[in-house]
Amino acid sequence: MIKRYIILPLVLLASLAKAQQKPNIVVILSDDHAYQTISAYGSRYASTPNIDRIAKEGAILNRAYVTNSLCGPSRAVILTGKYSHKNGFKQNVGGVAFDASQDNFARELQLAGYQTAWIGKYHLESQPEGFSYWEILPGQGRYYNPEFIEMNGEKVRRNGYVTNVVSDLAESWLDKRDKTKPFCLVIGHKATHRNWMPDTADLGRYDKVNFPLPANFYDDYAGRKAAQAQNMTIAQTMLVDKDLKMFPEGEKDRSLAPMNPAQRTRYKAYYDSIRADFESRHLTGKSLIEWKYQRYMRDYLSTAAALDRNVGRILDYLDQHQLSKNTLVIYMSDQGFFMGEHGWFDKRFMYEESFRTPMLVRYPGVIKPGTASNDFILNLDIAPTLLDAAHAAIPAGMQGRSFLPLLSGRQAQGRDAMYYHYYEAAVHLVSPHFGIRTQRYKLIRFYERVNSWELFDLEKDPKEMNNLYGKKGYEEITRNLKSQLKNLIVQYQDDEALNIFNTPVK
Ligand code: CA
Repeated sequence: MIKRYIILPLVLLASLAKAQQKPNIVVILSDDHAYQTISAYGSRYASTPNIDRIAKEGAILNRAYVTNSLCGPSRAVILTGKYSHKNGFKQNVGGVAFDASQDNFARELQLAGYQTAWIGKYHLESQPEGFSYWEILPGQGRYYNPEFIEMNGEKVRRNGYVTNVVSDLAESWLDKRDKTKPFCLVIGHKATHRNWMPDTADLGRYDKVNFPLPANFYDDYAGRKAAQAQNMTIAQTMLVDKDLKMFPEGEKDRSLAPMNPAQRTRYKAYYDSIRADFESRHLTGKSLIEWKYQRYMRDYLSTAAALDRNVGRILDYLDQHQLSKNTLVIYMSDQGFFMGEHGWFDKRFMYEESFRTPMLVRYPGVIKPGTASNDFILNLDIAPTLLDAAHAAIPAGMQGRSFLPLLSGRQAQGRDAMYYHYYEAAVHLVSPHFGIRTQRYKLIRFYERVNSWELFDLEKDPKEMNNLYGKKGYEEITRNLKSQLKNLIVQYQDDEALNIFNTPVK
């Protein structure tokens, strides 16, 4: 009899302890947030104490990259752990919705006993599946008083600034969740996507800062055909009205439409005074381009300020609810962004600024505070990493791998090369391309609009200005890189790329 009384509580305790081992998961996924503007990455531009806190208490990933630098496709890769050619969502345009019925990490986590939720920007044109709860912005969503799509398919408008509202919804879900289960929550932010509309609380935050031009701001694109063909420069493509809010008197700024009178008054007062000054100056040539760059930086960074503040809110929530110790937190963007490098804004290219993404991970008890990783890590790895943390099986079709062994020191070395493939030819006229990046080199094949190869020595030329492809002395390096690239194409089963690879450039 005595035995029975002892064994039962032990069994209970053991099963409780096992349940405890499954960490909660919070992924904060922002949009177009450049690592160059995060102080943990040594930003000269801005201070982001809350995002930096994740690095201090966990790990900063200095070499985190994406497989296809674009909003929707990156989210599809994060969800499925598969390259775009495998998950089917290659580009935002073209009217094809993401097939949400395929396997994703949330569905697998549910099977492992998790409550799962996606709140905020989703941008896959179909309804989320595998989530116990979701509430998403339609498409890109709006910065002010945004509408959300709820699980019953109905749209609800919520008052406030989008970054704050998304956090409100996230906290309210955390409050009402089933507390007997571990949870996985994805907080999807719209910020810092174009057209960079700051919260009224942050207007003017950077007006006294004069931002230094990147060294290659006036890039002439010599030797790089795809860079010559693009349409994403601050000089030509960035719009003084729609992007920088300088609408001539009487012309309608449609982004003001969802604002309430208080928001509109505050917002207009700020931009009207800038516009008056701008119009009085009659800028042309380089002074106009550099004025645009300063305005871009100020709007972008003011928009990012709310993002950092809201990261702090979520970390505080976890602290206040005694969740921090047993929660894996990831902060990342869907890709990087050009902040004037090569004269550009936007992303898409396999060049470092857009190919890379900020990624910071806190996992108490597993990752030592203050860890800095220089391993090649991809957004492709997120799904297997979350499943690894949850002690759940990683489906064979997932092409990424968990980075927890690398960050916890259980594994010494990660991948030696990364494969990238971008598809969207129609927007900003960036030629579709695929390529490989190794520790030292990057080899890219552009194949539509322009048909060319590019080779960069990232040690000698980190800004990717000097295309070495076809230059004397690089024959063997090129041959080796091509063979490595082909291996990756075959490994990831990218048949379209293999066909193009086998077709010589004319
Ligand atoms: Ca994006």
